[in-house]
Amino acid sequence: MVAICSTETLSPKVMQDYISISTLNDFIFCPYSIYLHNIYMDTDETMYHAIPQTKGKIAHEPTDHKTSSNRSDVILSLPVYSERFHIMGKIDVYKRKEKILIERKYNLKKIYRGQIYQLWAQMFCLLEMGYEVNAIAFYEISTNKMIPVEIPTKVQEREFEDFINQFQTYDPSLPISINPNKCTHCIYCNLCDKTNSENVYT
Ligand code: SF4
Repeated sequence: MVAICSTETLSPKVMQDYISISTLNDFIFCPYSIYLHNIYMDTDETMYHAIPQTKGKIAHEPTDHKTSSNRSDVILSLPVYSERFHIMGKIDVYKRKEKILIERKYNLKKIYRGQIYQLWAQMFCLLEMGYEVNAIAFYEISTNKMIPVEIPTKVQEREFEDFINQFQTYDPSLPISINPNKCTHCIYCNLCDKTNSENVYT
């Protein structure tokens, strides 16, 4: 079961095998949420989007619409993919001169492993597409702060590969362990058949 992301660079047939980079963090939070995401992805987002997600989405719009920089050495919102990992998505910002990849987040009180995987994933895609990457970082919009992240080692690259394999082979029909605390903070909570909890955002 894989999440699909649209891009301008691959044909629809090839796309079906590719995991969307934006779903990697959600998969760690709860693999079943990816299954729900795939079911509800064509529905009105207001049905399940909670306040933090909506805020983050609005903060992201200048990058998505390529309006946050006019510098010619800055690439914004570039569709990327990796044949090696079968992943695809979009990068936020790549600065050609510094060869730095930057992921913009509205708020980053804590950086989760899945968010690091998303940044690594973007980096692996860029490298495979022929770009050089000397540094990777998050940029926190709310505090105007850059947060550098280490380039993954060979061991971490294998860790990432194992994680992608788990994602690709995930079976939503298998029982999952339910964490009610997670469920109440899950945007799919009110639509999920695995819990009767109420979403805290409603
Ligand atoms: S509500 Fe709970 S079980 Fe359902 S997708 Fe969300 S975290 Fe997973």
